[in-house]
Amino acid sequence: MQFTLTDEQELIRQTARDFAVRELLPKAAARDLSGEFPEAELRAIAKLGLMGVNVPEAYGGAEAGAMAFSVVMQELAKVDASVAVTVSVTNMVAEVISAFGNEGQKQRYVKRLTSGEALCGAFALSEPQAGSDPSAMRTTATKTAGGWRIKGHKQWISHGDKAGVMVVWAVTDKAAGTRGMSAFIVEGGSKGLEVVSSEEKMGLHGSTTVQLSFEDLEVSDEALLGQVGQGFKLAMAALDGGRIGISSQALGVASAALSAALSYAKEREQFGVAIIRHQAIANMLADMNTWLEAASLLTARAAWLKDEKKPFGKEASMAKVFTTEKACQICDLAIQIHGGNGYCRDFPLERYYRDVRVTRIYEGTSEIQRIVIARHLIKEASN
Ligand SMILES: Cc1cc2nc3c(=O)[nH]c(=O)nc-3n(C[C@H](O)[C@H](O)[C@H](O)COP(=O)(O)OP(=O)(O)OC[C@H]3O[C@@H](n4cnc5c(N)ncnc54)[C@H](O)[C@@H]3O)c2cc1C
Repeated sequence: MQFTLTDEQELIRQTARDFAVRELLPKAAARDLSGEFPEAELRAIAKLGLMGVNVPEAYGGAEAGAMAFSVVMQELAKVDASVAVTVSVTNMVAEVISAFGNEGQKQRYVKRLTSGEALCGAFALSEPQAGSDPSAMRTTATKTAGGWRIKGHKQWISHGDKAGVMVVWAVTDKAAGTRGMSAFIVEGGSKGLEVVSSEEKMGLHGSTTVQLSFEDLEVSDEALLGQVGQGFKLAMAALDGGRIGISSQALGVASAALSAALSYAKEREQFGVAIIRHQAIANMLADMNTWLEAASLLTARAAWLKDEKKPFGKEASMAKVFTTEKACQICDLAIQIHGGNGYCRDFPLERYYRDVRVTRIYEGTSEIQRIVIARHLIKEASN
């Protein structure tokens, strides 16, 4: 494993950084207040080739790998975590269709995602009673002549109201448990697809989170992604990769919080010296920097394993649980270092704190990551 970026990864990182500073930064705080969806910005990201960083070139992606995708996520999240999560989920949807779709599906849907034509992609797995436990899913897909009829509800679907392409999970054989779940590609605006409500969230205000209803939505046989009964396997594979994205998102926000805290601690004076000269503040900064470095290495290792086509599920979970928990602590300490200013909107710290919190919840909570890691440990111990 290399500890430096390749020339290609560095170029992609710089492209994402320049874009984020030039195009996202000026309106990031305003978007947090207004909740405006960054449509123009997402289309510009697609034009730059950053919507499918880890997607094959044949379908409009950059095919630059998981490490390049991770650094793009970090650079976007340093400036606007809402934009970063939308890019992350879209990349995940494009990747799962690229990995499990047939040629027609890849040509039709992955290209729409990477080009920006679809605006973004949605990943519709969770339901009101099925969050950590997807096997409690109630949405069904019933076979019809030439297709499937989907019926049910999905909860907390990131930008499910904006996505031109979504992957929807449904039960196709209740008796078969997790082997009775299948995945379908559904186009935004399809007849029978309704946006029921939009969540009012603590953070990520520039990303919508909606409840979707599927009222006897009809899709053709062509909509089935992978095989009948393969849905759970597809979801778990997609989430392993997605966890590198969320870990990178948390890294980006935490890195921005540390930079802000360091600058502030050097400027702000109390008791006649810059507060960084007070050992309590210096110790906080030392811890924040150490955690960030460790989190960055764990994330890079998971991405590197993925790029090497080696198993990376355990490492992705370790990266996610460690990075997201430390990122929350880093953002909390950055507020502490800013004192009263940290709590007020003139500074971005309170936005970072609100935006980063959900990284411990979505794409598998911290508790679920620990279960995944422990299962790997048990398996390793019995080998
Ligand atoms: C802003 C936002 C965006 C989201 N975007 C998407 C999306 O695009 N697509 C999508 O499908 N979902 C999405 N989600 C849903 C998200 O993935 C779920 O919220 C998450 O998986 C947790 O499920 P839950 O909320 O039902 O919590 P629950 O599963 O009810 O868990 C509640 C608590 O119990 C703990 N718990 C549950 N089971 C166990 C166990 N076995 N052992 C120990 N502790 C346990 C959890 O860790 C948690 O602390 C999003 C959520 C949010 C908040």
